[in-house]
Amino acid sequence: MKLITTITEIRKIVTEWKKAGKSVGLVPTMGYLHEGHQSLIQKAHAENDEVVVSVFVNPTQFSANEDLSSYPRNIENDLEKSREAGASVIFHPDVSEMYPEGYNTYIEAFGVTEVLEGASRPTHFRGVTTVVGKLFNIIQPDRAYFGQKDAQQAAVIEQMVRDLNFPVAVVRCPIIREADGLAKSSRNVYLSAEERQAALVLSHALKLAKKMLEQGEKSAATIRHAMTEKIQQEPLAVIDYIKIVDDRTLRDVRVIEAPVLIPIAVRIGNTRLIDNFVFGRTE
Ligand code: AMP
Repeated sequence: MKLITTITEIRKIVTEWKKAGKSVGLVPTMGYLHEGHQSLIQKAHAENDEVVVSVFVNPTQFSANEDLSSYPRNIENDLEKSREAGASVIFHPDVSEMYPEGYNTYIEAFGVTEVLEGASRPTHFRGVTTVVGKLFNIIQPDRAYFGQKDAQQAAVIEQMVRDLNFPVAVVRCPIIREADGLAKSSRNVYLSAEERQAALVLSHALKLAKKMLEQGEKSAATIRHAMTEKIQQEPLAVIDYIKIVDDRTLRDVRVIEAPVLIPIAVRIGNTRLIDNFVFGRTE
């Protein structure tokens, strides 16, 4: 498994692949890889001849008060996890390689970025679209893989790809969870044993919503109220948001008739966790 750190070198490798008529899949990550990331790499491996996993803790998607400097890193483990899942190379550039002195261009999507995560983290998606746009230009993948864990991020990337005509197919992959239901996340390492237990309240609240929907509840307000009560029963949890939105436009839904996305963000101690589920979409 090769670790590539420069844009020149990764371009050379991809050019060779393309010359040989090979298809290329890209899995963009911030590293500290777990089975969630590995499921994306495995799918990319199944659908493409070669797979690039990018590992880059992208400073432009963190705001000043966020966890950029403490974000967990372990490139040795990332190499092993990527190899295991079928990656061809890891692209792991320095910040100065991606944003050299004088860097001053950003990609910004509107409409899907101002709500949910964007409401709490106003500059976040501008950083995400900028770095993913750069990765698309550097690697020129046929397909790029994103987790439903970050459902809004996937929607934002799809918008960018449509609007800017990137010749890349965006593939969404399902959320991978721990055995007890907690969505796998690199940030789960921040949780103490007590917080780890408290964090189950996210998946429990989503399960409750699912049950209400399956029983025919159509009022978003009623479901959100029940979810709020459930999460408030956990003393270590502080709700950032609980929303019920159209799963493509991310606009609020009041009466549930079409497929909906139910995204939630909850602080457990100092750690902000997100989770979601989609109801009513079969494909
Ligand atoms: P990150 O390293 O957190 O930026 O995540 C990189 C990619 O992996 C994103 O597309 C995430 O949505 C995806 N991902 C992270 N955790 C999971 C998970 N538990 N299940 C599925 N995909 C995930």
